[in-house]
Amino acid sequence: MNKEFLDAVKESVQISQQTWVKWQHEMMGIIHCGSCLALHDCWFVFGNEPIAPLHEKCHCTTVAIPTSQVKSRAKATSDYSKYDPYLFDPKNFYKHGKNKAFESWGYSIEDSQWLQKEIEKQGRQQYLSGNYELGVLNLQGQRISIRVTIPRKNGTGEVSFITGWMVKPGGKIKLNTPYGGK
Ligand SMILES: [Zn+2]
Ligand SMILES: [Zn+2]
Repeated sequence: MNKEFLDAVKESVQISQQTWVKWQHEMMGIIHCGSCLALHDCWFVFGNEPIAPLHEKCHCTTVAIPTSQVKSRAKATSDYSKYDPYLFDPKNFYKHGKNKAFESWGYSIEDSQWLQKEIEKQGRQQYLSGNYELGVLNLQGQRISIRVTIPRKNGTGEVSFITGWMVKPGGKIKLNTPYGGK
C-alpha cells in the first residue's frame, strides 16, 4: 500500500469522526452586524468555530451539517497572482521579503503553478481535518491559518510554514497569503 492511499484512509477516518456546523446569522430587529453577516453559512469543525453569540444582541447560532456534504463541497482556492508576482516579488515591488524563505528552499517563480496546486490541496485537506486556527474576524470575514509542508527542492527533508485563508460561505476557503510566517 502506498503512502498516498494510507493518508487518504487516515484522512477520511479523521473527517468522518467530526461534526460540522454552519454559522447562521439571524436578522432580528434593526441590528445589522458586518462580522455576523460575513460569517453567515461559513462552515467549521465543531469545537473549532467562532462561538455564538459574538456580542450583545447577536442572535446568531450554529447548526450541524452533514459531514458528507462538507466532504463533497469543501474547496480551497487561491489566485495565481498570490504567487506570481506577489510571493516571489520579481520586481521587488512588495518588498515583504517572503520570497527569501522559498528561494532558500530552492523554489523560484517558475514553481508558482506547482505551489498554487499544492497549497490548495493541503489547505483543503487541513481544513477538512479541522487542522486550522481561527484568526481575526471582522467585516471581511473569519481568517484561519493552516500549516503547509513542502519538500526542500535543493536538499533533503521538508519545510513547513503558515498560510492565511478567509473562510467563505458554503465550505469554501480562499487564500489571503501564501506565507504568513514559519
Ligand atoms: Zn454581530
Ligand atoms: Zn451575530
